Amino acid sequence: MTKTYNIASIPADGIGPEVVSAGITVLQALSEKLQTFNLEFKHYDWSSETYKRTGKYIPDGGLEELKQSDSILFGAVGAEDVPDHISLWGLRLAICQPFQQYANVRPTKIFRGTQSPLRNCDSGDLDWVIVRENSEGEYAGQGGRSHRGFPWEVATETAIFSRNGVERIMRFAFETAQKRPRKLLTVVTKSNAQRNGMVLWDEVAQDVAKEFPDVTVDKMLVDAMTTRMVLKPQSIDTIVASNLHADILSDLAAALAGSIGIAPTSNLDPTRQHPSMFEPIHGSAFDIAGKGVANPVATFWTAAETLEWLGEGAAAKKLLYCVENVCERGILTGDLGGKATTKEVTDAVVEEIRRLS
Ligand code: ATP
Repeated sequence: MTKTYNIASIPADGIGPEVVSAGITVLQALSEKLQTFNLEFKHYDWSSETYKRTGKYIPDGGLEELKQSDSILFGAVGAEDVPDHISLWGLRLAICQPFQQYANVRPTKIFRGTQSPLRNCDSGDLDWVIVRENSEGEYAGQGGRSHRGFPWEVATETAIFSRNGVERIMRFAFETAQKRPRKLLTVVTKSNAQRNGMVLWDEVAQDVAKEFPDVTVDKMLVDAMTTRMVLKPQSIDTIVASNLHADILSDLAAALAGSIGIAPTSNLDPTRQHPSMFEPIHGSAFDIAGKGVANPVATFWTAAETLEWLGEGAAAKKLLYCVENVCERGILTGDLGGKATTKEVTDAVVEEIRRLS
């Protein structure tokens, strides 16, 4: 019998609804064409608008309901009149943290038909996966503020690195590297300046490496890593780094691959006790929201990552193949130097899907 997956969709803010709707269109076209799986979507209107109306991003009991889904397709959160730390903690982190989606996976590559801003960097020269610790570190939410508003005000933001937290992300990163042809992992830290938590990272990396003798490991400081990404992109394959460091590196990676409008992000609970959440790497992009020009490719790749995680790897590959064909045909949105609208790119991908043999 054909398997049915229940997918929760949370488009949320800015260009989120436009790109998620495009993502659902191509997923449904793929499911119709292949007939090997079914998808049922349940839509949630959780957003900054809901927050402004009700004081909550997620209504009471919302997380319990979300737990019933097989996976979550997320758009973007952030509104001009809501402080970023409220929207981020109110919706995205409010799902990632209780659902223990501790592995944030961010693949980047240069699609056929698109261009890197780097000279001498073609499709195939940049093909990376960044594994980001997603549950603690610099975004653990520990800290406080005293003497608010006074000149002697102080604020602390304490990074938390637990052996358990570092070990589980390190093992996940080694497994990710091991599954890729090059079996190459770069462990990024800042253990010269941050001599406690980051030294723990280095030590745990050394221990876990013993379980993966077939994976080649190297070590970089985060500042040096930025120059290596720009100057020697071919020398990199899989990267593992803390919550903050990998957050920054992955935006750089997306820009080096051509646009922030291409790359996806997966927030995974590798234990599969909770649903995992998939989203484009870009944010709500207010400047282009509602204009119908947002690049939907990041959400298409997000959709492919969802299928891969659900066990539909063959369908995921077909979807990416269709998306790359469309890029190669020059049907590109403005961020990639083209003139196509979100709808034109989406229609072209659907057409490619219908043409699959
Ligand atoms: P956030 O703080 O949530 O990350 P932001 O608006 O600061 O949001 P992004 O939304 O990631 O940052 O986008 C930065 C810029 O990149 C946007 O202003 C927009 O011009 C461009 N951009 C982002 N996503 C897309 C996309 N899918 N298609 C085209 N351009 C995009």
